[in-house]
Amino acid sequence: MSEPLVRRMREFGETIFAEMSALAVRTGAINLGQGFPDESGPTAMLEHAADAILAGDNQYPPGPGVPELREAVAEQRRARYGLEYDPATEVFVTVGATEGIAAALLGLAEPGDEVIVFEPYYDSYAAMIAMAGAVRRTVTLRPEHGRFTFDPDELRAAVTPRTKLIMVNSPHNPTGTVFNRAELEQIAAVCREHDLVAITDEVYEYLTFDDAEHISLATLDGMRERTVVISSTGKTFSVTGWKTGWVCAPAPFVNAVRTVAQFVTFTASAPYQRATAYALREEGAWVEKLRKSLQSKRDRLISGLDAAGFETLRPQGTYFVQADIRPLGFTDGLELARALPERAGVVAIPTQVFYDHAEAGAHFVRFAFCKREAVIDEAVERLRRLAP
Ligand SMILES: *Cc1c(COP(=O)(O)O)cnc(C)c1O
Repeated sequence: MSEPLVRRMREFGETIFAEMSALAVRTGAINLGQGFPDESGPTAMLEHAADAILAGDNQYPPGPGVPELREAVAEQRRARYGLEYDPATEVFVTVGATEGIAAALLGLAEPGDEVIVFEPYYDSYAAMIAMAGAVRRTVTLRPEHGRFTFDPDELRAAVTPRTKLIMVNSPHNPTGTVFNRAELEQIAAVCREHDLVAITDEVYEYLTFDDAEHISLATLDGMRERTVVISSTGKTFSVTGWKTGWVCAPAPFVNAVRTVAQFVTFTASAPYQRATAYALREEGAWVEKLRKSLQSKRDRLISGLDAAGFETLRPQGTYFVQADIRPLGFTDGLELARALPERAGVVAIPTQVFYDHAEAGAHFVRFAFCKREAVIDEAVERLRRLAP
């Protein structure tokens, strides 16, 4: 039989996370590959979800999401960013940020349209751009003064008459960069000048460290009207399995997202929506504690990786550290990541798989620090075996 998979998806095989997690299970290695926390979110939020199920909140909620959550999201955007969104027409609930990204790309990109993404990119962007029949154009993030950033000339050069959208993920997975105001102004200027729509993936909006501040691109001049904001509950409240997200945008963009989402999932899970509404309103202190604890775990992992001989970049946000493998005598992160479980009993993710220009990320691997301290300590102890 000929290959049944449609042509436009053939470049997307098994994800690196599936490959590496299977390797972790087979070898018993510590998995610092995939970014999910090993502790659950605030107890009262978990109880809200459990109570909602037991109280019978188990049927289809309204397609755009339960009103309570749409209102809580609008309140959160107003309180944190000073932006007004009408919960009835400008907020839409999705099955995690992943569905928001998918529905936004399928609803806004015509076949042949170009979409700018910063590489390394979150893997679902590339797959959904391909499913839309659109074309991705990458702008490369490179280390400079201890953090990954882009060259504004390269960004401007990526725009063509076919460019329609730009994807902006900040705080950025997998580099940990939090775009500063100057970088966001450069992106905004390109959007305004070329009439582009921005899709912002803000799932790590609360998880920033030291003095880094998350700025929503939509707050910049002329940007609210052309930005589709996406966020979700998974990273903010350590419940990545809940898959409850939302889109905030002017009504015509929300309509585009809804038109797609209503046929993909129809609606997101009801009990998690109510629990998320509660958490957005009441669990700010818990999130601040999580942020501080992640910052100290970041420092713990970095000290350990440096002691093991890697050269690390200190991320300003997210769950992830980029480690340069060259000081240990390695050059290819993919090769090292495939050997690491057997050699050292630890799983990491090779950064190059998130680039179109793999050479730009060839010598980096990504480690996650959203794990218990004992797990981090054991992992870095094992990594000391790599030293020549
Ligand atoms: C985890 C993650 C997502 C997915 O969020 P869900 O709400 O679980 O769908 C999207 N974007 C980035 C950058 C992520 O790290």
